[in-house]
Formats: sequence, structure tokens, C-alpha cells
Amino acid sequence: MNSHLLDNVVAEKDFFVPRPPTPALRVQSLKNFRLTTDERDIAWITFDMAGSTANIWNEHTLREFDLCLEALSRDTTIKGLVLMSAKEKIFIAGADLKAVRNAPVRKVETMIERGQSVFNRLAALPFPKIALIHGACLGGGLEVTLACNARIASDSNITRLGLPETQIGLIPAWGGSTRLPRLLGLPTALDLIVTGKQLKPRAARRLGLVDEVVPKEHLEAAARKMLAHGLPDRVSPLNHAFWKMPGIRQGLAYHVRGQVMAKTRGIYQAPLRAIEVATQASVLPLGKALELERHAIMDLALTPQTEHLIDLFFRKEEASKKPHSRGVALQVHDVAVIGAGVMGSGIAHWAASKGHHVLMQDVSTDSLASGLKRIHGLLNEGVKRHAMTKLEMRDSMDRLTPEHTAVPLTRFPIIIEAATEDMALKKKIFADLAKRAGPDAILATNTSALSVTELAQTLPHPERVIGLHFFNPVHRMPLAEIIVTQDTTDDVIATAVTFVQKLGKTPIVVKDSPGFVVNRILMPYLMEAVRLHESGISAEVIDEAMLEFGMPMGPLRLLDEIGLDVAAHVATTLCAAYPDRMAPSDLLNLLVSEGKLGKKSGEGFYKHNSGAAVRKPVIQDHAQVEHVQHRLALLLSNEAARCADEGLTRTPADIDLAMILGTGYPPSRGGPLSWLHEYGTDNASVELRLLAASTPSPHSFEPARLHHV
Ligand code: NAD
Repeated sequence: MNSHLLDNVVAEKDFFVPRPPTPALRVQSLKNFRLTTDERDIAWITFDMAGSTANIWNEHTLREFDLCLEALSRDTTIKGLVLMSAKEKIFIAGADLKAVRNAPVRKVETMIERGQSVFNRLAALPFPKIALIHGACLGGGLEVTLACNARIASDSNITRLGLPETQIGLIPAWGGSTRLPRLLGLPTALDLIVTGKQLKPRAARRLGLVDEVVPKEHLEAAARKMLAHGLPDRVSPLNHAFWKMPGIRQGLAYHVRGQVMAKTRGIYQAPLRAIEVATQASVLPLGKALELERHAIMDLALTPQTEHLIDLFFRKEEASKKPHSRGVALQVHDVAVIGAGVMGSGIAHWAASKGHHVLMQDVSTDSLASGLKRIHGLLNEGVKRHAMTKLEMRDSMDRLTPEHTAVPLTRFPIIIEAATEDMALKKKIFADLAKRAGPDAILATNTSALSVTELAQTLPHPERVIGLHFFNPVHRMPLAEIIVTQDTTDDVIATAVTFVQKLGKTPIVVKDSPGFVVNRILMPYLMEAVRLHESGISAEVIDEAMLEFGMPMGPLRLLDEIGLDVAAHVATTLCAAYPDRMAPSDLLNLLVSEGKLGKKSGEGFYKHNSGAAVRKPVIQDHAQVEHVQHRLALLLSNEAARCADEGLTRTPADIDLAMILGTGYPPSRGGPLSWLHEYGTDNASVELRLLAASTPSPHSFEPARLHHV
């Protein structure tokens, strides 16, 4: 480009004076874009999707963008193009998944072709193109910037760049799988595509995904400066002779495939297909490479797995953003947490790091000290992972007040009890809280399985009592069950839902009943795994079977992680509630009595202090693996069906979501109820009856009313 012409641009600080488009640039009735030019003949396209806080690509926005590009291609005076967004938090969030969800095949295909051809047109414009990125720049949002010559990102915390398509069962197919390897080299591109990770601006700069990072207010000036001085010099890493050797590329692909297989056991098709496509596309001519992308995404889009993953994406979005359907949510600023143990300190840490002032109270000063130490450690880890700055860490610590005495709690709109799991103790604590709290305070318990109703009934205002069941470890687990009794008011539920959403967790409202949803469904499955082990099947084989099913961890290893004493305690509560189909496990109780509590004591179903890495066992008897899988998966879905039949959640889909987020039930299977439907409810009934006939505790396999869910 002729940068000489633009030299004085940099000197003129407030230079950007939009002027009406030249006749060639007059595009009729744009609803979602603004197209202007300045006196230096730079065109500025601002994406501002009508009636939305986000910019997304759909049929209309792609068409309008294409109209802009067409106009630009006709205007021979244009010397450069800057693409930006008018939205506060989003550059472009990607493609409109709603439009492709359940759409006819032809429509999906047309949308893919259209995106590719529009971005090709952008890439082919004969002048420099720069994308100014502030906010989320994901999927098709990043792909459009890859068709530009340069990218400048704001240094804001909300700016994120990534290609998350493989997470929803797809691959980047608007040129992402083709252009990213050309820009960053194959190893980096494969890593980003396969993991779907979202990069912060500086990390993106380090990898070369963006050329500059500047404060948001300087984005436009930075673009002008870049246009004036010329684009950064870049040579595609793939031009290097090394990458031209097919053996090298194939070797890398083989290696990355091995990593994915080790992590997912090949259950997810999209990352594997993405490796194949990006590896080939990186060296094919553009047209052929894009064709490869199209074929791959069309194959993937039509699979039940991708349908489940896309469905899950929408359900999670809805549950984590939509307010409760009834009641008024009050703002929560200050939070009191009673108990500074594993869960109390976990909740206090998370709430403080999300900006809440937190009072953490415990009767034991030792617990308070170790709770604070744990929080400090977690924050430190956050700094190391670049999830927060040192300053943010200090602010979070400053928002925490440890307390050992029974101070008044009148300024706290919500008080979360996370003390030892013991009904008598919790009743005592709640009676005391009722006196110390303000008249409208919400009293919440983090109990794993005790009856919230029983706890509430002892208080003068049971309508303000609720369960807030966070999972361990709080900073990692995305779910919180919100347990409501018959007395809990809509305002209290609405406040709890919004509070949990603001903490960045997904709330699922559950009617109070023993074990709520997650523990109720998980426990029979874990107990059955123990019984199978008692019957002579090795722990390794049982765990391996469920890993192959897609669980993130085998049931016996999970029990070791939870702590066998904790599990036995929850099991006792559930067995007392459902004596006809749940029985205590002798082996579990024996291990607990021997002090074998799992990981924390060094031994449970496994020995934990050997330091040896977990090895994949050599499976000799595949029929045994299938038997275990079959039995455990059916049992789990059967209990899920009972919960759905009892109407414990707003919809059965909430049960699937809770199990995926709370236990890592394989998202690819859509949840235990979706799995049941795919398996066939008639089939499942027959199988369950057969299992019941051959089991000493037949009632656990008694089929639920499967057709009702
Ligand atoms: P923990 O034993 O680690 O901590 C309990 C804390 O409560 C201790 O620090 C103890 O000193 C304190 N405490 C006891 N009496 C108190 C009182 N009167 N006032 C203030 N503090 C008091 O237990 P935890 O694992 O953190 O569990 C706490 C609650 O969370 C339990 O109800 C448990 O069922 C539930 N829960 C635990 C997990 C888990 O995996 N650990 C997961 C979800 C829910």
C-alpha cells in the first residue's frame, strides 16, 4: 500500500471525521452495519446488530456485510478497511446457532457456503483490512478477522478470542481450519482448534493471533497508525520447508490425535475430525481446503452427538442467564458464610473473588486459619494462571472478614451455612442465625442431603430458608442446586437464582427431597459400583468401563476423591429415605471403620501415596466391561427417570443438565434421560427387569415409569 499518502494521519489526533459514503458506497437500507469513509479514503464498517446486545452472523447479517464488501470492491478510491463492533462487550460472538439448530440440511449447507464466500470476498479486497477487536471474538467472529490482514485487540478483561466449535461438535468451517494454521503454524492452530480455548488479548498477542494490544480507547488510532505505517510483515510459518514435508505434518497430527484420544477415548468426533481437516487444509489451495471444511462440518452437524452438544449449550445459556420465572430478585452485595471448612472457605473464596464482601465465621479458630490459608492459595493459583491480577487478588482478600464470635449479621441479605453435616447442629446454628440476621435475610444451607424442609420448620420464618448446594471444589464446579421447600417464597428463589448466576454458576431449582437431584441419582450408581466390586470385579475394570462410557472419572475413584466417610454419610441419609431400593454397603462401611477413607487417608479402593500415575488397565474380558457399563448406566438413568416422574425440577431437561454439570455425565450423550430415550424406554424396561431378576437387591432395578419422562 502507499503508506506515504497517509503519513500525516498519525499526527492528527482527532482525525477520524466520517463523511457520507461516495456514491459507489451507498448501500441501501443497512440495518446491522454502518459503512463510512474518512478523508483518507479508509472505509470503516461498524457491526451493530439491530435490537441485540451481541453481534452474530446469520443470513441477514452475512448478506448485509456482503453488500458492504461488494460496494467497497466497486469503489476504486478506497485505501483501507477497518472492521469494528459498536457493542459494549462483544465484537462478534459467532454464528447464530439457533438458525442452524434443527434446520433442514440444505439450509445449514447454504449458510456454511455463504459464510465462506463472504469472508473470501473480504480477503480478496485489494487493500489492507484490519479488525479492531473488543469483547468476545469467537467462532465465526474470529474467522472473519482471519480474512483480514491484521488484528488489533483491546487490553480489556472482556476481550476473548477463540474457535470453540469443537466444543459443540463442529469444526471451524468459515475458513478457520484453513487460515489459522497459515497464520500461526500448525501446532498452535491445532491446539486452539482442538481445545476450543479462549485467549485473553495478551496471550493472543504472544501467539501472533493479534498484532497489537492497546487500551480500548486507542483502538481506532492504532488502526490509523498501522494503515499509515504499513502492515506488520508476516510470513506464514507453513512456508518453512519443514512444514512442507508431509511426514512432519502427519506426525504432528498423529501426536495431537493421541493426546485427544487419551483425554476423551475418542468419544468426541469433532476434535478428531478437526485435526484431520486442519492438517490437510493447511497446505491445500484455498478452494480445496474450504471444501474439506464444508464436508467435515456437514458430516458432523447431522450427528446426534452434535445435536446434544448444541442443545446443552442453549440449556446452559438459559439456566445461567434467565431470571427465575416468578418473584423479584434482590441485589446481594454482602454475604455471610457460616463454617470455614472445605465448602465454607470454597464459597467464601468464590464470592469474594466475584466482588462480594464476605464475612466467614467458624467456631474454630484453627478452621478459620486453615480456611483463610486455603483461600489465599486458591487466589494465588488464580494469579499464576493469569485468571486474575495481583491487585485483584489483594482486593479479594480485602473483601474477606474472618470472624470467630457471634457478631450481629443484620447487614447481610444472604447467609450461607456450610457447617458440619449434622441435622441437630444445623438446627442449632439456624436458630441462632434467625436471631442474629436481619428481618428479610435469606438463610441458606449448603447441606449435601439433609432435609431443608425439616431445618426450615424449626424457624419462625421458614419461607426465607433455602438450600444452596454448591459442589466441591467450588471454584471449578459449574453447578449449584437451589433447593426449595413448599414454604420458600418466589422472591427468595428469584434472589438465590440471580445471586448464583452472578457468581458465574448455573443454578438448577430443585424441590426439596432426600439427596436432591445430583446425589440422589449418583448414589445408587456409586453403591452399585461398590457391590460389583464386592462381587469380584476389580476396581480398575469397573472404573475403566465407565470411563469408556464417557464419565470423567470411574465411580470407585470418585468415591476415593469424595471421601468414603462423606459418601457413607450421604448414603445413610438416602437409604433411610428410600429403604425399599437403596441399602447400605457393607464394604463401604468396613473400609470407613478401618480408617480407609479414600484419597485423604491414603487408601480407599485404591492406594494413593505410591506416587505412581494412574495406568489404563489391560482389559481382557470385554464382556465384563459391557456388563458393568450396561448395569450402571441403566441404574443411573432409572433413578433420573424417577426424579423426573416426581417433578423435582422445572423440566426433565434440567435433570440432564444438572447431571452433566454436577457429575460430568458425558455431554455427548445429552444426560441420563436423553440417553434413556436413545436407548429406548421399552428396551430399558425389559433390560431393567432382567437385571432385577438376577440381583439380590431387586428393587434397585425396578423400572421407573419410564414412559412418563
Ligand atoms: P468441613 O468439616 O470441612 O467443615 C465444617 C466446618 O464447620 C468446620 O470448620 C467446623 O469448625 C465448622 N463448624 C462446626 N460447627 C459450627 C458452628 N456452630 N458455627 C460455625 N461453624 C461451625 O465440612 P465441609 O466438607 O466443608 O461441609 C460443610 C457442609 O457442606 C456440609 O453440610 C456438607 O454436607 C456440605 N457439602 C460438602 C461437600 C464436600 O464435598 N465436602 C460438597 C457439597 C456440600
